[in-house]
Amino acid sequence: MIFAPSRPAMRSPLDAWVSLATGLHGPEPDALRRWQALRLLEAARWARERSPFYARLLKHLPDPIPDDPAWAARLPFVTTHDLREHHEAMLCVSQGEVERVVTLNTSGTTGKPKRLFFTGEDLDATLDFFRVGMASFTGVGDVVLILLPGRTEHGAAMLLAKALAEIGVRPVLAPQPCPPEVAARLIAEEGVTCLAALPSQLRALLEHSPGPPPWSPAPDRALDRALLSGEPVDDGLRQAAAKAGIEIFAHYGLTETCFGGGVECGAHQGYHLREADLLVEVVEPVSGDPVANGRQGEVVLSTLNRRGMPLLRYRTGDMGRMLPGPCACGSPLRRLGPVAGRIVTDGGAIQVLTPEKGTANTP
Ligand SMILES: [Zn+2]
Repeated sequence: MIFAPSRPAMRSPLDAWVSLATGLHGPEPDALRRWQALRLLEAARWARERSPFYARLLKHLPDPIPDDPAWAARLPFVTTHDLREHHEAMLCVSQGEVERVVTLNTSGTTGKPKRLFFTGEDLDATLDFFRVGMASFTGVGDVVLILLPGRTEHGAAMLLAKALAEIGVRPVLAPQPCPPEVAARLIAEEGVTCLAALPSQLRALLEHSPGPPPWSPAPDRALDRALLSGEPVDDGLRQAAAKAGIEIFAHYGLTETCFGGGVECGAHQGYHLREADLLVEVVEPVSGDPVANGRQGEVVLSTLNRRGMPLLRYRTGDMGRMLPGPCACGSPLRRLGPVAGRIVTDGGAIQVLTPEKGTANTP
């Protein structure tokens, strides 16, 4: 652990959120697996009735529901190719119900962009996750400077600002672009206590202000936390931030997860996941078989409540692993470790790109 907290980490509030959403006590990990498998089946049936793509893909679903939740790992995958070629056929609501469309230019062989559709309900679910995730390390009286790029309505930065305001935290949206000297001035002027930034933005800020941070005039009003998202966080950055008195809370999310996916608690032992909305699996990239906790593989995710465009067993291309054992914060739930590379499957051959190429999180 690079940043050693002065007190034991508070248990991730995501556990209570998962308990409330699922009705599960604890929540106990095996019971949660069974709950998620059931929700996945409901989501699959729902999507199959409404989308031509899923009607073709999911002809055979288990009936009745199997006792063993492992059946979920036998459903077919959805790929980035599908997001480029079949996005409209994946839509499960009318166009009029779509609140936000995100188009992502990718390096795929066809040159076609990926496209994702979200309803107001889908965006509200992300707001809910942002409120709870940010409550892991911020609260009433905090001021968060949002450096994350993008100011589109319903984009990640704007949803984050809204969620913070709803939990009594004051968001300050930085101008775009925001050079380090402007960020440093805003931090001092606004009494910023926490950042929401890309890792590269925090690095630039620390390089601009080496040594003791000039933005901490009073010990009870210091910038001492940063939510980092959109790119991998390396140990060097954690060390530099710790030297400046800033504790990093890394977030994992993709546009495909409607931005929010998982966030570290104060114990910094992996991302606590958005388990009530997402089923996250790790599979062997060639065979597609599940791998044991602790083993590297491709991260696969299923949306359990998504209405506009559900993603069921979507291959993210991110290389990662589930961390075995409970978290030091007291949570019994598994966490996702840092993304260790990208798996490229375009063109048939499977290639693993390391070191980290970054995790797409387009605000
Ligand atoms: Zn934890």
